[in-house]
Parts: sequence; C-alpha cells; structure tokens
Amino acid sequence: MKRMVLLLVALLAALPARAQGKLNVVTTTEDLASIAREVGGDHIAVDSIAKGYQDPHFVEAKPSFILKLQKADLLVVVGRELEIGWLPPLITQSRNAKVQPGANGYLDASLTVKILEIPTGQITRAMGDVHPAGNPHYWLDPANGRRIAQAIQQKLGELDPADKAYFAQRYADFDTRLAAAEKRWDAMMAPYKGTKVVTYHRSWPNFMERFGLNVMGYVEPKPGIPPSPSHTLELISDMKAQGVKIIVMESYFDPKTPEKIASETGGKVVTLAPSVGGEKAAADYIGLFDYNIGMMVAALKAATGK
Ligand SMILES: [Zn+2]
Repeated sequence: MKRMVLLLVALLAALPARAQGKLNVVTTTEDLASIAREVGGDHIAVDSIAKGYQDPHFVEAKPSFILKLQKADLLVVVGRELEIGWLPPLITQSRNAKVQPGANGYLDASLTVKILEIPTGQITRAMGDVHPAGNPHYWLDPANGRRIAQAIQQKLGELDPADKAYFAQRYADFDTRLAAAEKRWDAMMAPYKGTKVVTYHRSWPNFMERFGLNVMGYVEPKPGIPPSPSHTLELISDMKAQGVKIIVMESYFDPKTPEKIASETGGKVVTLAPSVGGEKAAADYIGLFDYNIGMMVAALKAATGK
C-alpha cells in the first residue's frame, strides 16, 4: 500500500503541467488575465499575481506568487518596467525555466502595443520615478487591448498548436465585441472632445488620448512622488486659470489632496478603476471601460453642462 502511494506521488510529480490539457497561464495584472481568458477560454487556466485594486508598481511579494510561477507554462507581463520593483526576484526564485525572461513561456505584452511618453534625452533621478521605456499604463487604450489579445493568441497557439483554431476563433469573437463596445464608448465621449482634465498619476495618457481628452496636469508633482503643498497650490491656480474641473484619481490613492483641489477649484474628483477588479463593476476588460467611461461621462456632463 505504502509503495503504491509512493508510486502515485512519483507519477503525479512526473506529469506535465498540462495534465488536463490546459495551459497554466500566470499574468502580472488582472487586465492581462482578463484578456488571456477571452482568448484562451476553458483551454487554459489563468491566474493573476497582482489584484486590480493594488497599485501595480508596488506589489508586496508573497511566497504564494512563487508557487504560481513554479507551475506556469506561460507568464504574461505588462513590461516597460512596471513590475521592475517586485517581479524579477519572484521569477528567479520560481526556478521555472519556461517563464524566465527570454524563454518561450515569457510574453512581454508591451512589445506589440502603442507606447506613449518614451523619454528622449537623459533620465535623471530628479525627474521622479519616470519609466525609461515609456508609459507602462498602455492597456487603458482598447486598441492596445486588442493588440495584447493578438499577441496572447499567437503565443497560446505556439505553446498548444492543437488548439490553434480554437484560440483564433476566440480572438475573433473578442475583437468583434470590443469593436462594438468602442463604437459605443466613442459616441458617449464625443461631446467632450478636447476637455482638459487633471489626473493623479500618469496612468491615463493612453486612455485620454484614445477618448479625446487633454491632460493638463498631475496631482503628483513627479511620477511616483506624493503630492506636495507647493505643487498642489500651483496646480490649483493653473486649473482656475484654465477652467479645469475634473480630477481623475486611481482607486488605490488617498483622496485627501484631490478632494482639497476639487473644493478649491469647484471641480469634481472622479475615481476610476485603473485595472480590471479595481472596482466591482469592472469585472473584465470590456467592463473596465464600461465602468470608466460611465464615470467620466457623468462627471463631464456635470462639469460642462453638455
Ligand atoms: Zn506609472
């Protein structure tokens, strides 16, 4: 009996990760997990490391993350140094050769998307926590979501050629639904084209560009640097001079400074979900935009009377 149990344990350990025919996909964020689910359907198992309500720049590394990575056939990352503060040691400690950077099971989703704010010239510490490879919050443009889905589709087909047609069909279906949703969002946002807004962190350049709004300033004096009294005063006076009434905040920041700015300028704080899972209603990638566009339109309507 004991020998049989040992044999069984040995057999289980020797089984490939795709024991049930499912690829084990780990993503760093819930946005990537949601897109992977759209493409992979029930032929993959997906797990995200960071939760959507967490600031993805600062994720506390847990031993359970290493376990997830140990079992992964594919790791999908945001890249552009978003995860540089916490992911590299987790990948190393997983000792999983499949998901090491450069390996076949490591997919940097940023390589085929449109990246904004790629700095030119020298980067110094005085510039704050600037991302030298460009702004990593690119998933907040649905056109980039489509590009991410395409890259994941290609990679899944490569790792699991038998399911290639299945992934292609799932991608096509996602593409159709996303295109229909984009039409809806564009129509909702059309009346507000060119409206100036302030955002807390530089999370929204892709989102604002895509939907025709202009970011005129930030609550953070520099990326990753908390609000300072002198910068806040300057921002308030600039907002008053330019008639800016909307302050967009990520759900994981302290609302104290944005509220103060709003009360000084007669403006309104709009808390958006920067990621899937950042708010309950933002349960998947398309739902993320449904939620954020709905919140934006309500605030813009109140601020502009349009
Ligand atoms: Zn950032």
